[in-house]
Amino acid sequence: MEKNDLNAGWNLEHSYAELPETFYTRQQAVAVQSPDWIIFNQTLAVSLGLNADVLQCPEGTAIFAGNNIPDGAEPLAQAYAGHQFGNFNMLGDGRALLLGEQITPQGDRVDIQLKGSGRTPYSRGGDGRAAVGPMLREYIISEAMAGLGIPTTRSLAVVSTGESIYRETERPGAILTRVAASHIRVATFQYAAQFGSVEDLRALADYTIHRHFSQVEGNEQRYLSFLQEVIKLQAHLVAKWQNVGFIHGVMNTDNMAISGETIDYGPCAFMDTYNPATVFSSIDRQGRYAYGNQPYIAGWNLARFAETLLPLLHEDEEQAVQIAQDAIAQFSEHYHHHWLTGMRAKLGLFTEEAEDETLIKDLLDLMEKHAADFTNTFVTLTLNKLETSTLSDESDFKEWHTRWQDRLVRQPESSDEVMEQMKRNNPVVIPRNEKVEEVLERAEQDGDYSLIQPLLDILQRPYAYTPEQEAFGAMPVSCDPSYKTFCGT
Ligand code: AMP
Ligand code: MG
Repeated sequence: MEKNDLNAGWNLEHSYAELPETFYTRQQAVAVQSPDWIIFNQTLAVSLGLNADVLQCPEGTAIFAGNNIPDGAEPLAQAYAGHQFGNFNMLGDGRALLLGEQITPQGDRVDIQLKGSGRTPYSRGGDGRAAVGPMLREYIISEAMAGLGIPTTRSLAVVSTGESIYRETERPGAILTRVAASHIRVATFQYAAQFGSVEDLRALADYTIHRHFSQVEGNEQRYLSFLQEVIKLQAHLVAKWQNVGFIHGVMNTDNMAISGETIDYGPCAFMDTYNPATVFSSIDRQGRYAYGNQPYIAGWNLARFAETLLPLLHEDEEQAVQIAQDAIAQFSEHYHHHWLTGMRAKLGLFTEEAEDETLIKDLLDLMEKHAADFTNTFVTLTLNKLETSTLSDESDFKEWHTRWQDRLVRQPESSDEVMEQMKRNNPVVIPRNEKVEEVLERAEQDGDYSLIQPLLDILQRPYAYTPEQEAFGAMPVSCDPSYKTFCGT
């Protein structure tokens, strides 16, 4: 084991553990019966400075199952407390362990976390475990998001545990290894504000600024600058989600990372037919986290974040509240800017005209009215293959199309340049629900993992427009309006 550890390339540090002890509990993983590989991300491993060959040995399986800890790891569970569907709860890593921070060959510091590694002091009633399906869903969707160029945590490995877990039914257990810029969440700050001293809160803020926002470290009003930067990153992130039709599913404050990465893939899915009311998560009965609500919820979560910083923003509470409110008010402007920039790019617009937003919204309205597929509509426009679209026979769409063509002519760029721009901004493939479901089902029910990598290969470069991808993307979408995703936690 030691020999393998020496060669595996682990380079772990533990800066988070230097925070006050209230922020974590040291905890070992609970060993599992008979771990085995499901999938390993070689490319990611190499970029982290890890030796993929060494790690793919049985010793590697033991590490990603929590049966063995990598050289230099000092596992801990992080404390946090936040709003779940609007209700405040004490949370924390109930089934996850931070092994440490890998320092990559490029000098980046990234968290290596096991998810599904057994109970911790924060498990509450849970068993600390995870099922194959949900861990594979996180792996597939997070890697697809990375391919789409959207900030996200990454997935390094999924191993099966050889043990069953019990949800509504008996399911095979699995552990995911997640790689993240950090696991500091809005909920980590809520925990500090609720249960810690002002000094604990300041320590967390200083740590986070140093780790993620060192550019504001010297600012006179560093905590305000920090808040503003977090707001900007979230505005950027959620605009990116909207631009590709990604629905997170559970935008609780514990699932919002301060780093600006998409985190905690639960019942997430991509929208097929365009409809802002789309909700996939079976537990989201009120539609709180529907596609069209995501920007508002992000703003709501950021307001909770700003509240935690009040003692650091100004010694006078009233003034602190004013400062926080002014900062939060900027969110919608930032969001709108990113959304509009993204949508212009999707329509091949290089220049800016006042009527652009109406043009965009009219297209979305038409897609909603005629129940058109979000992704495929943009692909159709990109490739100028209108005949393949369900919209092509609609007279109101034809009118819109003429308006758009006229708009394109009013900019200097050639049609080739427009097409290139559109290809860079309209994915030809997304992780379609029925494809993802098929892969997860085969894995959970038959232990057949052979479909995972081919799907990932297709999803890895979604803007490539290869013939295979165009064929994959053009497949009829038998959109099931009752499609539901389950947490399965
Ligand atoms: P999530 O819905 O995955 O964001 O999880 C919300 C909270 O519940 C977090 O504190 C998790 O660590 C915890 N949790 C989720 N599933 C389990 C489980 N099976 N056992 C223990 N804790 C869990
Ligand atoms: Mg969570």
